[in-house]
Amino acid sequence: MKNEDKERFILYLEKLFPNAKCELEYNDPFQFLVSVILSAQCTDKRVNMVTPKLFEKFPTVYDFASADIRDIENLIKSCGFYHNKAKNIKNASIEIVNKYNGKVPTNIEDMMKLPGVGMKTAKVVCGDLYNADVIAVDTHVLRIANRVGLVDEKDPSKCSVKLEKLLKNDMPRIHHRLVLFGRYHCKAQKPNCEQCEIKDICKYYKSKL
Ligand code: SF4
Repeated sequence: MKNEDKERFILYLEKLFPNAKCELEYNDPFQFLVSVILSAQCTDKRVNMVTPKLFEKFPTVYDFASADIRDIENLIKSCGFYHNKAKNIKNASIEIVNKYNGKVPTNIEDMMKLPGVGMKTAKVVCGDLYNADVIAVDTHVLRIANRVGLVDEKDPSKCSVKLEKLLKNDMPRIHHRLVLFGRYHCKAQKPNCEQCEIKDICKYYKSKL
């Protein structure tokens, strides 16, 4: 995609979703990390239904670190993959207490050393909490970036690195806009091409003509 087309796409995202932000609800960095872990293969809406009771029972990282894992599991069951998620949350809590004095790490490298925290989670957390210049690539971002022709890269980690080189700034915000664009406009099965204002520069649309 040409530079001017990239700029136009980014402006279009801004026009469609000017106030895009993370839809997860949280009160502190640790709660945000827990919510992002829970949101894997689950909707933000579902996570927001689960976390009020979870954070009421376990208000701090210390409470999670000393929790009985079955109590965590019972409270997060409806988010799916709850055995793994509970294990990851508890183990990450223990690590944060032991290694980071109870504070969520502030950089991607340390974040990714936490049990169950992969690159995508680390980038979402560091982008939103610390405004790091990174872009997390989930299924929507991967699909959209390839569809419109920003990148030609199916591997999420490599796609993330390529997008970071291309986009350069305001990436956490662009990440959220791309997610909303994929969720509501350029859906996986039914992209809204006829109403789309960038179809003349979209690789996918042009390939269909
Ligand atoms: S033209 Fe269609 S495929 Fe391309 S970005 Fe717009 S909605 Fe998505």
